Amino acid sequence: MFSITPSHIIEHLYCPRYTYFEYVLRIPQNEEKYYKVMRGRELHLQRAKQNAAYLRRRIGAIDKRLNQYLTNELLRGEVDEVLWLSDGAMAPLDFKFAKYEGKVYETYKTQLYCYAWLIEENFGKPVNRGFLVYTRSQNKLVEVAVEKEAVARVQQAAERIHRIIRQNYYPKATRYKKRCLNCTYRNVCIK
Ligand code: SF4
Repeated sequence: MFSITPSHIIEHLYCPRYTYFEYVLRIPQNEEKYYKVMRGRELHLQRAKQNAAYLRRRIGAIDKRLNQYLTNELLRGEVDEVLWLSDGAMAPLDFKFAKYEGKVYETYKTQLYCYAWLIEENFGKPVNRGFLVYTRSQNKLVEVAVEKEAVARVQQAAERIHRIIRQNYYPKATRYKKRCLNCTYRNVCIK
């Protein structure tokens, strides 16, 4: 079965048709430029990750697993850090090559919800919060609440993605027409 990643879910929530164009028709987005940028970021992130012990102490983590690859029936993903907390819960921690500008982007939250789902299923412990580290703001640590409804939305999106790919159906366009203006697929997308 096709296994999806948090990026697939983020794209799908942006516009369900991304799933169709990319994974049914297999029209790629422009990825080469993206990977060049990513290589520079990776080096910066690796340095930040090596100095993360004090962040775990601030969170109150009692154990950790680094770069943990997790899967379940629908989803797969690699979590920068899976943390065991002193209150018996667990939490994902994710490093971002970004500045903190007073607000956590929905894409970052969605990624944490995906990780929360994977951690709960693989370790059988509750996850009610996640953490982001903004490496371009002196490793600023930001806590994000993980509500059950948010994880359920991600699970429903994963099921919809599987249905689109299995049944080759053309999903509805995003409701936000502004998103079409700069879309890679605007020339092939029938509105
Ligand atoms: S053009 Fe608009 S509706 Fe079509 S894939 Fe892009 S964002 Fe979605």
